[in-house]
Amino acid sequence: MTATLAPATATQARPRATSAIVIGSGIGGLALGIRLQAMGIATTIVEKLDAPGGRAYVRRENGYTFDMGPTVLTVPHIIEELFALERGEPKLNEPDFPAHVLDGKRITTGISGGPKTSEYVTIVPVKPFYRINFDDGSWYDYDGDPANTRAQISAIAPEDLAGYDRFHDAAERIFTRGFLGLGYTYFGDLLTMLKIVPDLVRLGAMQPLYRFVSRFVKSEKLRAVLSFESLLVGGNPMHVPAIYAMIHFVEKTWGVHFALGGTGALVRGFVRKFEELGGTIRYESEVAKIDVEKTTGKPRARGVTLASGETLRADLVASNGDYAGTYSLIEKRYRKIHPDLRLKLAKQSMSVVVIYFGFRADPKADKELRHHNIILGPRYAGLLADIFDRHVLAPDFSQYLHVPTLTDPSMAPAGHHAAYTLIPVPHNASGIDWSVAGPKLVEKVIAMLDERGHIANLRDRLTTSSFITPTYFEQTLNSRLGNAFGLEPIFVQSAFFRPHNRSEDIAGLYLVGANTQPGGGTPAVMMSAKMTARVIAADVARLARSQR
Ligand SMILES: Cc1cc2nc3c(=O)[nH]c(=O)nc-3n(C[C@H](O)[C@H](O)[C@H](O)COP(=O)(O)OP(=O)(O)OC[C@H]3O[C@@H](n4cnc5c(N)ncnc54)[C@H](O)[C@@H]3O)c2cc1C
Repeated sequence: MTATLAPATATQARPRATSAIVIGSGIGGLALGIRLQAMGIATTIVEKLDAPGGRAYVRRENGYTFDMGPTVLTVPHIIEELFALERGEPKLNEPDFPAHVLDGKRITTGISGGPKTSEYVTIVPVKPFYRINFDDGSWYDYDGDPANTRAQISAIAPEDLAGYDRFHDAAERIFTRGFLGLGYTYFGDLLTMLKIVPDLVRLGAMQPLYRFVSRFVKSEKLRAVLSFESLLVGGNPMHVPAIYAMIHFVEKTWGVHFALGGTGALVRGFVRKFEELGGTIRYESEVAKIDVEKTTGKPRARGVTLASGETLRADLVASNGDYAGTYSLIEKRYRKIHPDLRLKLAKQSMSVVVIYFGFRADPKADKELRHHNIILGPRYAGLLADIFDRHVLAPDFSQYLHVPTLTDPSMAPAGHHAAYTLIPVPHNASGIDWSVAGPKLVEKVIAMLDERGHIANLRDRLTTSSFITPTYFEQTLNSRLGNAFGLEPIFVQSAFFRPHNRSEDIAGLYLVGANTQPGGGTPAVMMSAKMTARVIAADVARLARSQR
């Protein structure tokens, strides 16, 4: 069966692109769908799963609501920008960081986002941003407040205070140039990239993040505190360039936020916005092939064929899926820049095991729990090498424990907490049999949380639990080697070297989301949607001019 979204054939010249298919309803796919609808391009999102969100899918069990993936929201004005779009108002040429955003360098209090956001979802700031627990039982609360930050550093390593001040200034310079200045730059050609290299070298932003941090502070605890954040976007602090020091500053500048009801509530808001603008989403519609035609010139995307055999036609196709997954949907003969070898050699980010669990609340026992808890194991560099370089499952582990019910009790039955804990593990190049290793790791992690008192008596209080392993990312989310965050954000896979938002192989094919520029994490995938919308707008205008 063929469903025609907009009749488009090689012979039938159209004045301008009027229809689009977006493969995948991750946050990047939804953000692009909203932008395309605002541009007047009739957009259908086709999603493999039965509900939206991709990594931000929601799991509901026994009265508990579990966000399966992203929980830390930063840069709320990017969310507001999407909800504020109206049909015919693509707003692609307005400043990316308007004056009120730059002026508002204070951490917001109360309700975050803006007036349009609050029509769809309520977003609130969370403090501290993270409690980082060290293996010796001490901790560091990061909340962006300068006085509190100094007090925390003094408690851990007073000799590093001056070094922290210098780190802070260096990170601010990287943030100003790398995020405010270049965040939305589309590196479609090598020259654009080469032009910024001198700046990056001058700022020290090209050396590995951990080495950069170590120049300023001596305490291993502080080095972990100031470098772990790249793990939130799948990057090993030992490998990723120090440009990622900007995350520290992004959080300090605009705070860390949470959507009441969970990130799933934000996703539902985006779906509503997209549908209000006239867009359509089709679930349980896995794309098996991106259809490409070649008459003269470059091969051109004409639509997609679903796993069911149904074909959908459109003027342009954008993929929100995995990098290797996307290009594998295209016949090899059309892929000169992205052949199978390149897909195979691309370095994938780590994977994760995530345990979703509910437990009876005990306010006295739980008083040291925070909404976002990083629980570091005994090793930092060694554990990262096991995960990223040696691809082995280490006997020790670090974890990120999320307890959203400390902010929004409605996500669990009364008197209970909903939580998840995320354990970074190697991707599937490891050859680990997760059907055997998964349950054992889960048991170990639950026992550790209980015995070390992070959640005292957890085993007695546990009411529900389930987990995912790299198998979920590989088989359910079609992510190569079960990567949890897309391509690893190392220098040779960043900016110009990251897959381009406009495919170099196929005309009318675009990428959006964590695997394309600028990279992973929820703000970045929303930024990628704007960058992709911009190249689409430029291509549509060029096509219209050529047909006049
Ligand atoms: C456990 C976890 C925690 C995280 N925590 C944070 C956090 O706190 N803060 C933060 O900023 N970031 C976080 N991240 C990263 C963030 O979630 C991602 O960068 C972001 O959500 C990725 O969005 P995306 O738009 O690239 O697409 P994805 O969410 O990857 O969605 C892609 C979609 O495409 C669909 N798809 C794939 N192939 C096909 C096909 N052939 N046909 C149809 N559909 C297809 C998939 O089903 C999926 O729905 C986390 C990630 C994970 C895994």
